[in-house]
Amino acid sequence: MQEKGFRSWLFLIIENFYGQNSASKHEREVTMENSFLIKTKDLVKTYPMGQTKIFALNGVNLNFMPGEFAGLVGPSGSGKTTFLNVVGSLDSPTEGSAVVMGKKIEDLSHKQAAWLRNRNIGFIFQTFNLLPVYTVYENVEFALLLLKLSPKERKDKVMKALEWVKLADRAKSKPAQLSGGQSQRVAVARAIVKEPSIILADEPTANLDAENSFNILDTMEELNRELGTTFIFATHDGKVIKYLRRKITLVDGKVAKDEVFEPKNVKGEGQ
Ligand code: ADP
Ligand code: MG
Repeated sequence: MQEKGFRSWLFLIIENFYGQNSASKHEREVTMENSFLIKTKDLVKTYPMGQTKIFALNGVNLNFMPGEFAGLVGPSGSGKTTFLNVVGSLDSPTEGSAVVMGKKIEDLSHKQAAWLRNRNIGFIFQTFNLLPVYTVYENVEFALLLLKLSPKERKDKVMKALEWVKLADRAKSKPAQLSGGQSQRVAVARAIVKEPSIILADEPTANLDAENSFNILDTMEELNRELGTTFIFATHDGKVIKYLRRKITLVDGKVAKDEVFEPKNVKGEGQ
């Protein structure tokens, strides 16, 4: 506490000494601006419907810092999947802006969008989306094929990812030989194997029973804590919502609520 006070005090002295109060404030704002991993401004996404259009997103302003464990919640059709698709550079905004890791999604070519995804973004879907003819190992390795890695580097990364999700012993199995819970663990390994900054998970527990849902959520929370990976969920599952440290409620393509919670299992210290 004292040290923190001392630092603020020192900062004030330095700031005043140089007489750059406004300049420093500006600099701090610029730094804040750059420290957002994701920043959307008046984000609009419409889809044509007959003579009219549907506003899947209708002016969404949301910022995410690195390391967040956040979720979009809200009724079906409120724009959760659309938001993840735009931020994940799978789709582009109709109006407004989405800046992801310093890149404006609306300005990216297909190739640049693919590059951003391949390097920095992992996806987890409700239906696992594993390739049935390939083994668990190959399904995870697939995510690395577009990155220029040696076979040895690839193997090390795949095995590490399978260890994270406790499936190293099933590397040679085919998806059909796995349970739903195990399949989703493979999908988590595939998302995390390139160590992306961001993982976007769209209803990841929708096809899992309670026990497997909690297991996969524990794993994702651990990866968030250990690797600092930012997780953004789209969900209406109460089990997922319990784990969130930030809950953003979307209604009709708009942010209705944005709530931040204390991290789970962390006891406040004399506040
Ligand atoms: P959520 O994930 O919250 O259920 P979505 O983002 O999937 O919501 O959808 C938001 C709205 O946009 C819905 O009304 C949906 O019907 C519409 N929508 C989503 N994708 C498309 C599409 N490709 N074409 C037309 N309408 C779409
Ligand atoms: Mg959806």
